[in-house]
Amino acid sequence: MKTVKCPRCGSAAEYSPANAFRPFCSERCKLIDLGDWAEGRYAIPVSTPPEPEELEAALEEAFAADSLSGASGSHEDDHLH
Ligand SMILES: [Zn+2]
Repeated sequence: MKTVKCPRCGSAAEYSPANAFRPFCSERCKLIDLGDWAEGRYAIPVSTPPEPEELEAALEEAFAADSLSGASGSHEDDHLH
């Protein structure tokens, strides 16, 4: 019987079709390990700066909203409700 070291706890784990959780020793270890992945503990942090076009659109939107509220002039109080 071929065994491998469980990547999670280091115990001997049977490495065969009989072990559905290989290379882990048990379902528990497999789930814990998958949980780690899901929580991003192993993930490489990636920074995704906003696309220049998106940024520009957002700025235009903000500017348009500004000029609209400015154009309403005497109705400024309407925004306080
Ligand atoms: Zn284990």
